[in-house]
Amino acid sequence: MTAVTESLTPLRSQYLRIKRRYPEAIVFFRLGDFYETFDSDAELTARELEIVLTAREMGKGVKVPMAGIPYHAVDNYLARLINRGHKVAICEQTARPGDTKGLMDREVVRLVTPGTVIEPGLLDIKTNNYLVAVVPGEEQSGLAYIDISTGQFAATQFPAARLESEIERLAPAEIIVPKGCGYRPSSPVPVSELDSYRFDNATAADLLKEHFGVATLEGYGVGHWPLAVSAAEAIVAYLKETNKDSIAGLSHLSAYSTGEYMALDENTVNNLEIFKNATTGAIAGSLLGVLDSTKSPMGARLLRRWLGQPLLDSKKIIERHMIVEAILSNNAAREEISRWLKPVADIERLANRIRNFAALPRELIALKRSLEAVPELARALRGAPLEGLRSELKEHPDLISLIEKSVEPEPSSAVGEGGVIRSGFSADLDQIKDLATNAKSFIARLEAEERVKTGIKNLKVGYNQVFGYYLEVSQANLAQVPDRFIRKQTLANAERYVTPELKEYEAQILSSKERLAEIESSLYRQILGQIGQSADALLTLADAVARLDVFTSFAATAAANSYVKPEIRDQGPIAITAGRHPVVELCVGPGNFISNDLTLENEGSQVIILTGPNMAGKSTYLKQTAIIVLMAEVGSFVPAARAEIGICDRIFTRIGAREDLASGQSTFMVEMVETAAILSSATRRSLLILDEIGRGTSTYDGLAIARAVVEFIHDRIGARTLFATHYHELVELSEKLPRVRNFNVAVTEDKGNVVFLHRVQPGGVDRSYGIHVAKLAGLPKAIINRANRILLELETARVVPATRKVAGIEEAPQLSFFSRPPKVVDEIKKLDPDSMTPKEALDRLYEIKRMA
Ligand code: ADP
Repeated sequence: MTAVTESLTPLRSQYLRIKRRYPEAIVFFRLGDFYETFDSDAELTARELEIVLTAREMGKGVKVPMAGIPYHAVDNYLARLINRGHKVAICEQTARPGDTKGLMDREVVRLVTPGTVIEPGLLDIKTNNYLVAVVPGEEQSGLAYIDISTGQFAATQFPAARLESEIERLAPAEIIVPKGCGYRPSSPVPVSELDSYRFDNATAADLLKEHFGVATLEGYGVGHWPLAVSAAEAIVAYLKETNKDSIAGLSHLSAYSTGEYMALDENTVNNLEIFKNATTGAIAGSLLGVLDSTKSPMGARLLRRWLGQPLLDSKKIIERHMIVEAILSNNAAREEISRWLKPVADIERLANRIRNFAALPRELIALKRSLEAVPELARALRGAPLEGLRSELKEHPDLISLIEKSVEPEPSSAVGEGGVIRSGFSADLDQIKDLATNAKSFIARLEAEERVKTGIKNLKVGYNQVFGYYLEVSQANLAQVPDRFIRKQTLANAERYVTPELKEYEAQILSSKERLAEIESSLYRQILGQIGQSADALLTLADAVARLDVFTSFAATAAANSYVKPEIRDQGPIAITAGRHPVVELCVGPGNFISNDLTLENEGSQVIILTGPNMAGKSTYLKQTAIIVLMAEVGSFVPAARAEIGICDRIFTRIGAREDLASGQSTFMVEMVETAAILSSATRRSLLILDEIGRGTSTYDGLAIARAVVEFIHDRIGARTLFATHYHELVELSEKLPRVRNFNVAVTEDKGNVVFLHRVQPGGVDRSYGIHVAKLAGLPKAIINRANRILLELETARVVPATRKVAGIEEAPQLSFFSRPPKVVDEIKKLDPDSMTPKEALDRLYEIKRMA
């Protein structure tokens, strides 16, 4: 081994030393204008980025794979690697030790991971980029999260069973877990392991106190949550390793309780299409798509957070509704607010960039414009419900005037070239600028002067990188060149000269350039530092602006789509008059959506069994009920003529048969697992939306399970429940269970064709119209005719129950859940398998099969 090491170049040894410290990351090793990757890193990088894989000689007979990217394009390449879940260690050239010969010093300045990116180009402006630390426990779990682009840092502790849904809500970019804890989230999020001693509570609390410079963590509300403290400290420790600069942004930790919010599981979020449309995966066609008319990125991010965290405290919900109402009722104010929200920049992310000295000059101008809009926003807020918000929109005249007098209104993006700091702000800087300007105008005048002095008409003053300023005289005029000209360069048809005077002014220009760069950069840093002292105040302001933006967005959507203010009660029914589905109503066009009523209450119509053919509108009705409840608890108005909402602690949905091929579970298994989970967590205050339970198995099994589930919910859980089913046999349950009600989605027939009315009406339905739907779908006529005949045969072969009238409709004969079992069952019951030989058993089986 030693022999090999000796034969390596110093560069290779340096690389290996660094790489050893970052085995899990791709090391971007700066070599001049390139970041190079080596060995397996190079192979991976070349593959992921589709760039050329080369090789480089790095010692005698040592050729290693290499792939490089130009340093100026690093953001783009970095984004692609990070998005695929890789980590990248950025290793820069630092100082050159001593003389100019020998190896450059190099060190890793940042470890870029999906949860710690700060580059604006790598972040989506409308979503938070969360790094989450998890301390999984048997009974309780701790969790902390941070978005380092906004400085939002929070921790909580909750019953272990809630861990998964909290992670689903946060949709983190990266998760940190203690090494060897075995916990992995169910979604495909990059997981980073941190030594478990980092999570040790006793040291974590001390380290955290030291970080914040406080004597106790009680002030942050996490004192009684040891696992939350460990998780928070793990985040601080991780950031120290990956992105030291971001630590400055961690000025505050907030404790939150998941008990304040409705927990939303992933199925429900997907089924209700809250954040994205299930078919297209896009925001358009989702609830967020309908509700989002926010004007600022901060508002857009907050709306997303709120949609994932419906409130449970009626007082807080009502407060939100009152603010929306106040904004909605004043058109002029609403327009003013929208107008003044537009120029507001992403103050939240900007405050952190300023604190990290990373903000660009034009971002300060954007900040100034934002701050100027704040008093205008505050002015538009009148009336009691808006007082609180108004008082939070604090003005910052000091910052406005600081930026006003210090930064050019249209600054150049490069600091140090004289285009950033406004004249009049620093006498030093102005003096240097004057010097440079004077020298430049002297040189500009020189051409004319020397032409007169020498009589050379085409004498020119020029500049190049190597010789600096020069006087150029063409071949024909060389005889007139005076002695004071010093020759510097000979070209094909001209000579170039300098004069002592020219050199002196040139020196002035050069030195003033350096001084200017120095002074401007240091002034700019000072300005950032000064604004940075108000970073916390800016974050508070950003929060108020974000809330105003979301409230105004709620009001705008309510006005555009005729939503109403829901009445909220801690206990009580969900009573909706003329409810609509907010997304479907926009798809089917104005006036085409049929609104429907609903009453669900613990003591009365607790379980609604909804029957109706496919395509009638059952799912739409189920989902709109859940969505209306969710919208109400988020603080939005709702699509209905009137809505009374007794708060739901959770919304559970089990909708459709979903194949879960990836996990190797059958459709039916998935359905049952989900149903089991719902039945074990639902409470009397929950809302249950169950669509087609039992569909994934045979008719009798399915029917049996569906009935047992309804009974369990009715007798044991007591939750308000909507149960859609194509088993019309289930309607008989309403005769046995007092709090079960039957409803159906109306259809009529017109010349043998089924017409969907989408109207929900009391009573069960007599048939499933499956063949009608098949016909609508364009199945060949021969098949439809044949199917109708088979249906008739099947129906007449069944045991016919007494015909009843339901909602005025004469019921046709149907497959009844309460009918006698077929004869084969009696035959099987008679058997005694223990006394039979295998041969006898087989013979009997054949006989029974013939009977069936
Ligand atoms: P089901 O669950 O009964 O099979 P869906 O709820 O999926 O039916 O509805 C099928 C289609 O009917 C929807 O895509 C929608 O276009 C339309 N639809 C449903 N409900 C309504 C309604 N209340 N008003 C107008 N169109 C509706």
